[in-house]
Amino acid sequence: MENLAGKCPKCGRTHLLRSREDMVVCDCWRICPICGGEMTPYLPDTAPKTYALNGLRELQVLMVCTCHSPPFYGTQKPVEVKADA
Ligand SMILES: [Zn+2]
Ligand SMILES: [Zn+2]
Repeated sequence: MENLAGKCPKCGRTHLLRSREDMVVCDCWRICPICGGEMTPYLPDTAPKTYALNGLRELQVLMVCTCHSPPFYGTQKPVEVKADA
């Protein structure tokens, strides 16, 4: 069996993949870059259409770490890690 690995371009962590088509979402986007704690999902109360760019129906979820004052709002999206070419 082939051992495939993909490296997250954001945090550099290596993830094991089951196949070339496999894809892993690195959870580093949920980690607060300041304190290293896990952040909480945060839905902006702005009108959803503000976020519907180019008809993309992508749900914009931000992450917030309330350990800080003011709270830290993460803007990073989930990173999809695929097998290295
Ligand atoms: Zn990562
Ligand atoms: Zn934090």
